[in-house]
Amino acid sequence: MNKRQFIKTTGILTLGAFIAPSVSCSSVLSSTQITPSPVGFELPPLGYAFNALEPHLDAMTMEIHHDKHHQAYVTNLNKALENNTPLKGLSIENICITITSDQTAIRNNGGGHYNHSKFWKWIAPGGANQPQGTLLDAINTSFGSVEEMKNKLSEAAKSRFGSGWAWLSVDTSKKLFISSTPNQDNPLMINLVEKPGTPILGLDVWEHAYYLKYQNRRPDYINAFFNVINWDTVALDYQNAVK
Ligand code: MN
Repeated sequence: MNKRQFIKTTGILTLGAFIAPSVSCSSVLSSTQITPSPVGFELPPLGYAFNALEPHLDAMTMEIHHDKHHQAYVTNLNKALENNTPLKGLSIENICITITSDQTAIRNNGGGHYNHSKFWKWIAPGGANQPQGTLLDAINTSFGSVEEMKNKLSEAAKSRFGSGWAWLSVDTSKKLFISSTPNQDNPLMINLVEKPGTPILGLDVWEHAYYLKYQNRRPDYINAFFNVINWDTVALDYQNAVK
């Protein structure tokens, strides 16, 4: 699989999107894309109380993470897009797909906005507490078991040096794979990542995601994350990615 095949197979980005952002993409992500309003991107509501994930993720971390960190990505993304006509108006997914390494501000803040918008939903309270149905089948096919998938995701998260994310994604042949990216990069960034894909679950391992409660104990935070995953959200993203 290469980048060309990724675009071709997923159909996420059409040539029309490059030339005229107003042209709608016939995209596998079209039903779930995050699009800007006329004034730019906006911070999505968390959707639940800051303390809803206690004791695994503490309220103060959730509040600062959402209201301060995510807001800063949104604000700085909008600033960076002001003078970028080709990317202005695109969904955040298509910005990620289009971004190149020289566009640092949009890469970092666009990635930050996409990653966190998804993250709040992947850890939203409620939903199944284990993978089920076709997602469970796909996990068993790719990894042998849920436990082995968790081990691989956990290992990717632990071994990411410094700030970044660990991902469970769907590749162009609709198979699941685990990867890790630095900073706010993500697997949609086909010009930047080794293996592109559509993320269906991501784990934020920036220190801002856990330091207040877990300090330097990233492995404890990773274990806590597995207690708050909303597998219904993950299953929905999986279904959209393999359509
Ligand atoms: Mn974060």
